[in-house]
Amino acid sequence: MIVKSLEFTDFRNLKDNIIYPAEGVNIIFGDNAQGKTNLLEAVWLFSGGHSFRGAKENELTKFGSNKSEIKMNFFSQGRDQTAVIKYSGSKKEVFINSVPKTSSAYLSQCFSAVVFSPEHLSLVKNGPSLRRKFIDGAICQQDVKFAVLLSKYSRTLMERNALLKDFYKHPELKETLCIWDDSLILLGAKIIKKRLDYLRNLQLSAQKFHQGISSGQEELEIIYTSTAGIDINDSEALIREKLTAGFKKCEKEDFKLSCTNCGPHRDDLDFLINGIKAKTFGSQGQQRSIILSLKLAEAQMLWEYFEEPPVVLLDDVLSEIDRNRQEFLLSNTQGCQTFITGCEPPVIENGNTKIFTIEKGEVR
Ligand code: ATP
Ligand code: MG
Repeated sequence: MIVKSLEFTDFRNLKDNIIYPAEGVNIIFGDNAQGKTNLLEAVWLFSGGHSFRGAKENELTKFGSNKSEIKMNFFSQGRDQTAVIKYSGSKKEVFINSVPKTSSAYLSQCFSAVVFSPEHLSLVKNGPSLRRKFIDGAICQQDVKFAVLLSKYSRTLMERNALLKDFYKHPELKETLCIWDDSLILLGAKIIKKRLDYLRNLQLSAQKFHQGISSGQEELEIIYTSTAGIDINDSEALIREKLTAGFKKCEKEDFKLSCTNCGPHRDDLDFLINGIKAKTFGSQGQQRSIILSLKLAEAQMLWEYFEEPPVVLLDDVLSEIDRNRQEFLLSNTQGCQTFITGCEPPVIENGNTKIFTIEKGEVR
């Protein structure tokens, strides 16, 4: 994938402009709060995901405007393509090669990117939601239907939780609980199965990168921890059985707490280095190496899946990691078009490099 041009109108704080990135490395530097991450976010949105900063659609339009638009020309699947995203309040319209699409998830079928931002640096030690977001987001890039599955699951979960909250006023509703349970178990088993399949490949690839960063000293292992006691090699049918038992086991607690305590929305990932839990015992450097390995593995899997390299977006992370890890990251993303932001221009020895400066939203 190669971004050939990126045009933005009333997007965040960026002054309306069109930029023509290099096919190799693009360095975007400027002081704090000038618009570096906003520019990276504009590229990222074409991968079909939500803002990597968790922004809502209506937050992407420039303050004081009610509409914004980003347009990208890119080379992918052997041809030049165009995508446009138009925002109007919380509404969004997506066009791929001038054809309107019903969902932005379709963008992931023609453009893929991997983003690595300071938020990811706390992936190992922070709460489980970031880890679930990481794995679900990575799967969505390869599988449009997975996003639909996730949203069906979360809508059903909301319905079940609403019923649990209403139960004391309307005990007769207990009869209907099993309808939501059946749906959640069916959808949940599909979600978990997808996660496990992805995880097995991710682990193989991440292990190789981790060996490289640690000069062969450390063995990385990723464990899927589940409220229903699921094992990485379980079949979908077995996952359904275990979820059914898990839902039964948690029912009393569910009524007591008015929420659903079993299912993929409660699952997590554990990272072990040489058999020891990295979240509790890993040094900061080891935790960062894990994240680096995961992100490189994510990029490699996208590369294999689409048979072309994804675009790599490195938001302010180079200044956060030591020189050895910087070099490891850059040498392992060679072949990918890369966008790197920072307050200082990093020294990159690569002929195909463009430098953009950014000041008060003006990109030069
Ligand atoms: P840092 O080096 O601190 O990460 P940055 O250059 O990456 O800074 P951005 O996160 O891109 O900075 O934000 C630049 C500015 O854009 C911020 O001052 C922010 O308040 C502003 N901003 C964010 N959203 C909007 C919006 N919708 N309209 C106008 N300005 C916005
Ligand atoms: Mg920033």
